[in-house]
Amino acid sequence: MTPPIPVRIGDEEVHEDRYSRFRLIPWWDQTKLQSARVLVIGAGALGNEILKNLVLLGFERIVIVDLDKIEESNLSRTILYRGSDIGSYKADVAAKSVKALAPNAKVKSIVANVVQDCGLGIFAWSDVILAGLDNREARLWINRGAWKMNRPWIDGAIEGINGVARVFVAGSAPCYECTLGETDWKLLEQRMSCNLLLREGNTEGKVATTPTISSVIAGIEVQEAVKLLHGMPTLASSGFVFEGLNHTSYKVEYTANPDCMSHFTFENVKEIPQKSSELTLEDLRLHGLEDLGAQGLGATDVVVEFSRDIVHELECPGCGAKEEIFAAVGSIKYEQGRCARDGQMRVVKTIHSYDGTESFGARKLDSLGLPLFDVFTVRTAEKEKAYLMAGDKSAVLGDEL
Ligand SMILES: [Zn+2]
Ligand SMILES: [Zn+2]
Repeated sequence: MTPPIPVRIGDEEVHEDRYSRFRLIPWWDQTKLQSARVLVIGAGALGNEILKNLVLLGFERIVIVDLDKIEESNLSRTILYRGSDIGSYKADVAAKSVKALAPNAKVKSIVANVVQDCGLGIFAWSDVILAGLDNREARLWINRGAWKMNRPWIDGAIEGINGVARVFVAGSAPCYECTLGETDWKLLEQRMSCNLLLREGNTEGKVATTPTISSVIAGIEVQEAVKLLHGMPTLASSGFVFEGLNHTSYKVEYTANPDCMSHFTFENVKEIPQKSSELTLEDLRLHGLEDLGAQGLGATDVVVEFSRDIVHELECPGCGAKEEIFAAVGSIKYEQGRCARDGQMRVVKTIHSYDGTESFGARKLDSLGLPLFDVFTVRTAEKEKAYLMAGDKSAVLGDEL
């Protein structure tokens, strides 16, 4: 970095550097932004604007999650991508561009679907989560994960020249899930077929958007993150709506749903130093059993719960053949559900826990179809304890972050 050059403004000597204009804002604390750990989910139109703003503001610890590759149609709304990047992963190119703009920044890209492929450890790592997504399924997953790990998240949604930015703070309802209506739930259910396999051609997305509205909404999202990190009041539990056609903007308040499934936060998450490849499911259950002081309980009274449902087996109703799978629900496509012998649609058997008796207890934690750096819960009827597989951290986030 070039040394600051002192300039005189009135009677005061001011040191001009990259961030000196921010410091003229009385409450501004650059070190808060520099040290904040930011998880950006989605590297499309909103994600590009979010990342651009983070870089300009001097954020230096950023993780970017996105599954998709860059297409030509993205280039009208993505300042971080060039024509030569078509076909490359958005997360990777975005990370490279961010580093080119801010050489001091530590940036990690994760090419993944946040719902199936990312452990809750990335939520635990972050101070704030910024989302630039186009589907409800991922938002709902982020909302539940953010509550579990007690992290705030900021959502953005755009369509045409209108958009909304919203802030959700774990532990204080209303949350994103509270805002979902009947139509939202119907659309969410349509994504999965009745037997939990993923139907193709039924994904959301491909909405009409412009770079102007993505910059407006991403601008609000990042500005809210800055305020939140400074401990200032934010849009928490409400939304900022901007209607480009009528030049109207307003704040919308949401109502808490007392039956909302998202309102749950882990207490005292214990970090396990080993890697998922070093422990079996039974090892973890016994570890939890000891921590919970549950030695006197019966064989199936201490249960390990997973972060998400796993497809355990596919069973053919025709020939009875069973195939062991171990993959996250939603990661298997509908066509893969057919029996190779007779073409019948097989029945999906899912699991979400282990009670010490099932055959898969000897499996290592990395061979269950669950992501690395994930959280497991060990529970009895009375108590529970959450375990973060912290030994996986460098495999997922590298060693810089
Ligand atoms: Zn809620
Ligand atoms: Zn069959």
